[in-house]
Amino acid sequence: MSRIETLAARAGSHPDPSSGALSPPLQLATTFEHGPAAELPHGFLYQRYDNPTQRDTEQVLAALDGAARALLFPTGMAAGSTLLQTLPAGSHVLLCDDSYFSFRVLAREQFPRWGLEYSVVDFTDLDAVRAALRPETALLWAETPSNPLLKVADIAALAELAHANGARLLVDGTFASPVLQQPLALGADVVLHSATKYLGGHGDVMGGVLNFARDDAHAAACHGLRLLAGATASPFAAWIILRGVRTLPARMAWHCRNAQAVAQFLVGHARVAKVHFPGLAQHPQHAVAARQMSDFGGMLSFEVAGGRSAALAVAARMRLFTNATSLGSTESLVEHRASVEGATSTTPEGLLRLSVGLEHPDDLLADLDQALAVT
Ligand SMILES: *Cc1c(COP(=O)(O)O)cnc(C)c1O
Repeated sequence: MSRIETLAARAGSHPDPSSGALSPPLQLATTFEHGPAAELPHGFLYQRYDNPTQRDTEQVLAALDGAARALLFPTGMAAGSTLLQTLPAGSHVLLCDDSYFSFRVLAREQFPRWGLEYSVVDFTDLDAVRAALRPETALLWAETPSNPLLKVADIAALAELAHANGARLLVDGTFASPVLQQPLALGADVVLHSATKYLGGHGDVMGGVLNFARDDAHAAACHGLRLLAGATASPFAAWIILRGVRTLPARMAWHCRNAQAVAQFLVGHARVAKVHFPGLAQHPQHAVAARQMSDFGGMLSFEVAGGRSAALAVAARMRLFTNATSLGSTESLVEHRASVEGATSTTPEGLLRLSVGLEHPDDLLADLDQALAVT
């Protein structure tokens, strides 16, 4: 079994038999020829059902997470929503309290119509998780590290709790990517990634993936719903994601190095009240992170002393960090999450989230230094 750097560097590369081309082909066809007995000689019928570029990309994505099966979707939200819609009506879902904001909105607005119940729990508190389990709890929805507070949940412990209750554990591993964290090896049943972020890696494609530990009825149900509901990624998006994956381990190493430098700079700064980064020894789950991640990632957040207006002023003074949403691209971004999340946000008003990119770390620190300078 090749290591992840090797898998990624050669992703989708098997010379094309008709030309010898090394790079993976982009196949845009919507329909595929039937055989004389109405059979499908290559297994493809119609692009929405399955298509060659999507399948190439899914094979690579499955290998990165050690999954038995991968399903690609047009967005991370489509991946998560599809999985949630395959749960039997009457199921209860435990959502971690710092899950990606749109999933909490989805639970509030759509779960009642889908016949699902849910509770929101701090997944870093295993006693609270245990107490919130019900006989009808079918799924634990963890996100680690979480957005935007960078909480780290103990994947192996959560898997044990879930399985003892007859439930499954999903881990949204978007912030870590398969390079830094392998949830399936720790006992999770499904991993979700927004491929829009590190997998694509260049801020120019959307996608989502579900990586299943087993190619079981649940994976088949998600595939069936994707096929009928039409949440198939375009071949072009699949191809761009496959291209991004080839440099994923190399990019993650730089993201991690830069974020560690930024976190250390911010921790020592007089105008910074708090830094949320699992790579800092003082992070409350640093030990869990050090155990289950190979490095701490490129995402962090910090709280500016002085709250909302001070945080907005600091963000406005940044020149290299661009004020924009999303993460995982080559360029560094800053975002005031409470503004983006709106009235129901629980994010601290003084918090700024940073997606640390691939610039030189000294340039990033210089930008933060001038933006935080009291004027
Ligand atoms: C962005 C994101 C999502 C949603 O993905 P989209 O591709 O935007 O639909 C889910 N989880 C996390 C942690 C994310 O950062």
